[in-house]
Amino acid sequence: MHRFVVTPTPQDQLAYELSCPICLQLYSDPVVLPCGHNYCRACICKTVDALDKKAKTILRCPECREEYRSVDSLQKNFKLCSIVEGYQAAAQQLDPQTVAENMKEQAAYEALGDKLINKAATLVENMASLVDR
Ligand SMILES: [Zn+2]
Ligand SMILES: [Zn+2]
Repeated sequence: MHRFVVTPTPQDQLAYELSCPICLQLYSDPVVLPCGHNYCRACICKTVDALDKKAKTILRCPECREEYRSVDSLQKNFKLCSIVEGYQAAAQQLDPQTVAENMKEQAAYEALGDKLINKAATLVENMASLVDR
């Protein structure tokens, strides 16, 4: 029987923090709104396209409803972008399956697992400075 309660690993937590609230995927080309929330540029563009442009609707953050001027004025979040890239690289490199294939020894596998947790913890700390507002 599978258990329904699963303790999130640091990696899961990090993946969650690095996921766009709109598409629920890792950010691609993330932009930051004045309120501090981040979205993929494509995703925030979609929310604007869905609005009736003739109505001169005020643009608002989908999460906190804070107003922002225009999609064009949004800054790319370079730091978040590089964290996502780092996470993807680390996840790929330390993917348990890849590790198991590359190194059959259990000890090596466990050591890499620890490294992944440490790496993820560091990235979560980095993220905290971005998302804690
Ligand atoms: Zn997105
Ligand atoms: Zn917001």
